[in-house]
Amino acid sequence: MYDNLIAGVPTDLWIGGEWKKASDGSRFDVIDPATEAVITNVASGTVEDAKAAVEAAAAAGAEWAARKPRERGEILRRAFELFTAQSERFAKLITLENGKAMPDSRGEVAYAAEFFRWFAEEGVRNLGQLYNAPSSGARIMVQHRPAGVACLVTPWNYPAAMATRKIAPALAAGCTVVLKPASETPLTMLALMPLLAEAGVPAGVVNVVPSRRSGAVVSAMLHDMRVRVVSFTGSTEVGVKLLREAADNVVRPAMELGGNAPFLVFEDADIDAAVEGAMIAKMRNQGEACTAANRFYVHEAVHDAFAAKLTEKMAALKMGNGLDESVALGPLVNADTRDKVQELVDDAVAKGARVTVGGTRPDGKGFFYPATVLTHISDDAKLLREEIFGPVAALKTFKTEDEAIRAANATEYGLAAYLYTKDLSRGLRVSEKLDFGMIGLNRGLMSDPAAPFGGMKQSGLGREGAHEGLMEFLETQYVSVNW
Ligand code: NAD
Repeated sequence: MYDNLIAGVPTDLWIGGEWKKASDGSRFDVIDPATEAVITNVASGTVEDAKAAVEAAAAAGAEWAARKPRERGEILRRAFELFTAQSERFAKLITLENGKAMPDSRGEVAYAAEFFRWFAEEGVRNLGQLYNAPSSGARIMVQHRPAGVACLVTPWNYPAAMATRKIAPALAAGCTVVLKPASETPLTMLALMPLLAEAGVPAGVVNVVPSRRSGAVVSAMLHDMRVRVVSFTGSTEVGVKLLREAADNVVRPAMELGGNAPFLVFEDADIDAAVEGAMIAKMRNQGEACTAANRFYVHEAVHDAFAAKLTEKMAALKMGNGLDESVALGPLVNADTRDKVQELVDDAVAKGARVTVGGTRPDGKGFFYPATVLTHISDDAKLLREEIFGPVAALKTFKTEDEAIRAANATEYGLAAYLYTKDLSRGLRVSEKLDFGMIGLNRGLMSDPAAPFGGMKQSGLGREGAHEGLMEFLETQYVSVNW
């Protein structure tokens, strides 16, 4: 049933430029979230395999680091071109293993490929400094060099983009990497490896070790002194665990963790534009995005109009198998995620929320959850504090700007926030008071390879994309020069 769709997709471990079976021969199934059928199975890396991958990355390190930045950039540029040329094949593969609708998958491939192009260009701008020491008479020379082997760990919600957002800057900086993709979605990155090889990435520079034993495999990497960076995207819970482990060998962490984005609609907002933005901020990727709007705070004067228009748009979305071109809302990734969404909706409803559309999971195969809008959310509803990670918009009203800011900031997360107002000075004033790393001001989408992506508070450490993303993989060295 899946043979055509996965034709040519490798299913083993990619170590040192070769496809390898797991050292103990074990494999795990990859499931289609739309049908619950097994798509294929993939080698499940062991601790020995993780060590072999670090060995391969370390062995390839010196030669890769010594390449001229322009040469590395040209290889990344070819990777962008090869990946883009196969965008339709990759979009289908993403939909197959993650479930998202094809327009979302196409958007992800374009975004993911763009990191190769951006860092092909940014990698040549690894600038240092030279200046006079104020009193000693020495010259201070500052330069940046590759940090070493990087351990990359990525989630299932963006199987391509979360990985290329790490691989591209690491390679541009001159680092070599071992990637552990999410067990739900290992196929996309395995399929990318032959393209990277064709683009000219030497054997051992990028290694991929999918595994069912994530904890043991990642831990083995973090306890190898040659691994100098751990770049993780995923839940705050696992991120905190990896931070603790990284401390043992003082491995530099870059952490992109959970979110709980507020979406503020002021009384002077363009309501149609706010609803458009809300649909993107909430429904992109079925709501399975760390930047997904989780809590809508709508001024009481415009709440009912906003709720009615949002409900109408949500009700019009067709739910179904993401490979069907007429579908806008695919299934969630697995049963646990779907059940968690239902639990949060049930909790809110038990505490007084009203359902204007959706609210009940359908029967039958596939991890589907309908587009849902809830109003009259009580302050103790769990979904105000926890990531919903599903297609559920929760609306509350506010009266004053201060009240909206206080409510928005009342979370331990600080990744993304959105606000809609026609008054630009209010927009900027409120933005500065929001404790979030990224703000969408009259925009429902802020992800851009040219912008520093990342969070404050428990949403993470470090930034991806922009120039900052390159710096995560560079060490600073200073030479005191007797001129
Ligand atoms: P997760 O934390 O469960 O898993 C992320 C990765 O870590 C996967 O590869 C997983 O296999 C691995 N992992 C799981 N347990 C591990 C362990 N004990 N040791 C080492 N590795 C382990 O997250 P998820 O469910 O895949 O993704 C959803 C989460 O990711 C959400 O919280 C979301 O907000 C977050 N996310 C954040 C960003 C961001 O940029 N800030 C982007 C996408 C997703």
